[in-house]
Amino acid sequence: MAKRVAIIGGGSSGLCAIKACLQEGLEPVCFERTGDIGGLWRFEEHPEEGRASIYRSVIINTSKEMMCFSDFPIPEDFPNYMHNSKIMEYFRMYARRFDLLRHIRFRTSVCRVAKRPDFATTGQWEVVTESEGKQESAVFDAVLVCTGHHTDAHLPLSTFPGIEKFKGRYLHSRDYKDPRDFTDKRVIVIGIGNSGSDLSVEISHTAKQVFLSTRRGAWVFNRVGDQGYPIDILFTTRMKEFLKRVLSPSMVNNFTEKQLNARFDHSHYGLKPKHRIFDQHPTVNDDLPNRIISGRVLVKPNVQEFTETSAIFEDGTREDIDAVVFATGYSFSFPFLEGCVKVVENQIPLYKFMFPPDLQKPTLAFIGLIQPLGAIMPISELQCRWATRVFKGLNKLPPRHNMEADIKQKKEAMAKRYVKSQRHTIQVDYIPYMDELASQVGVKPNLLALFLTDPKLALEVVFGPCTPYQYRLRGPGEWAGAREAILTQRQRIIKPLQTRHVEEHPSDPTVPLIFKLVGAVAVLAVIFAYL
Ligand code: FAD
Ligand code: NAP
Repeated sequence: MAKRVAIIGGGSSGLCAIKACLQEGLEPVCFERTGDIGGLWRFEEHPEEGRASIYRSVIINTSKEMMCFSDFPIPEDFPNYMHNSKIMEYFRMYARRFDLLRHIRFRTSVCRVAKRPDFATTGQWEVVTESEGKQESAVFDAVLVCTGHHTDAHLPLSTFPGIEKFKGRYLHSRDYKDPRDFTDKRVIVIGIGNSGSDLSVEISHTAKQVFLSTRRGAWVFNRVGDQGYPIDILFTTRMKEFLKRVLSPSMVNNFTEKQLNARFDHSHYGLKPKHRIFDQHPTVNDDLPNRIISGRVLVKPNVQEFTETSAIFEDGTREDIDAVVFATGYSFSFPFLEGCVKVVENQIPLYKFMFPPDLQKPTLAFIGLIQPLGAIMPISELQCRWATRVFKGLNKLPPRHNMEADIKQKKEAMAKRYVKSQRHTIQVDYIPYMDELASQVGVKPNLLALFLTDPKLALEVVFGPCTPYQYRLRGPGEWAGAREAILTQRQRIIKPLQTRHVEEHPSDPTVPLIFKLVGAVAVLAVIFAYL
């Protein structure tokens, strides 16, 4: 009989979890507390309790070729950076294509997951759910937790003395929907992550004045990179990853900071932090410098204190204000797993950010509990492909002490690289982490074999963006369309931009021999670095 897997959550992670179970011949039952799929990406003015909430205008920061599921490219006419409504359209297409909906029990919350008494031998779980006020309990062979980590607002009011006296309105970015409420107001946005920068830009179009308060500043990336390519397409290549390995971190930081300062000098704009560019989760915003140069957004240091009507900043300046938006990030927790896993200050010890190392049987995995420099969706998908194979016994986890050593090593590396902040506890780099998962599943691209058998594809795999299709070229879950998807990815990037016909100047198609030779040497170097 097929093993039964409980999947908690029907967001993007839950959807690919269902699909991975089906592909491995497992029987998935997905519990979604709301009435629809999509999780965070389904915008609603008044979202349900317990679901992440976004603002009306959110446009994703990861481009379509980098965020798609690995065997289901996003249609070529969809924009590179999609509005939340378009993302939902894609998720619905995915659910339809793989017939996922019939495995979801909507309006059903998981309230408790506990080991069965015979867990040490069976690895089974008792899952208690609630639907329309009625509780039910069922036994499952394995559990995939797909509940996301952007639901619980981190609202650090205790670090802002006087906020209790403030007579204006204050809210967390989670509860912000659109700028209407802030028209003609003087507003402070606290925090310079992607929420803080998006919101200060948007509110500044109608507010009297926006102040963007940051305790340490930030380097600000553009979505639109050189020649108009999405920035993640340019940054996330195996060649660049190889260069990062061979160059010192300081050289890589210098080079990238110089590039960003060439657009606008971060010191002049009051944004320059003390830390280096890759020591912080990236803030991506093309419009922020424009709002700063036009004076609609004024960058300020941290707030030292609030009074009834104003904010006093750490540099002693004071501004009268009507509203405060705390764009101070999120915390995560798993109340239904109490007694089984423990989250302390946004930290949870999981092997490869997925498996608790201390279970007698590896039948519980967390999906999407990572903060990548890149998109979450393909990572969740590959995590699911691995977890389902572990559940089936096709892949084995190492002994507990090895897992704990790996957890410790990752934690130390994170602490060494990133500035100390509760937002930097589940950071992963896209290519190294995907390759790590892929090695477990047996789907990491074999560059040497590729170079010898299909050099055209090898060149795109090494020099082109590391798109999720690369993890469908071989091994379990191999997809016959992967090669074609990789070779046509640039077309899909350009296509949605070409809404007006433009005559192209013919360029010289011949690549000088010297470039070909340099290219070949570089490919070999990358291959050997990855072997
Ligand atoms: P979610 O989308 O949060 O879905 C979790 C689901 O679980 C929900 O449907 C919820 O109702 C359900 N659920 C929770 N608890 C229970 C329970 N006990 N029982 C039953 N159901 C339950 N990521 C990117 O990759 N690129 C981006 O550019 C990007 N932009 C973002 C912008 C914003 C403003 C925010 C806040 C986040 C952004 N993210 C981005 C991260 C985002 O979390 C992921 O893109 C993605 O939504 C994660 O999907 P998920 O399925 O893991 O979680
Ligand atoms: P975040 O990345 O955690 O950023 C929180 C910000 O608040 C940081 O600047 C942090 O500063 C600051 N902060 C936290 N506590 C503070 C305190 N006590 N005092 C002063 N400042 C404090 O949260 P987010 O911006 O909401 O982003 C959450 C996730 O959603 C991220 O993955 C992000 O990329 C994503 N997102 C994407 C988009 C998009 O795609 N358009 C939009 C919004 C969000 P420190 O760095 O000093 O801790």
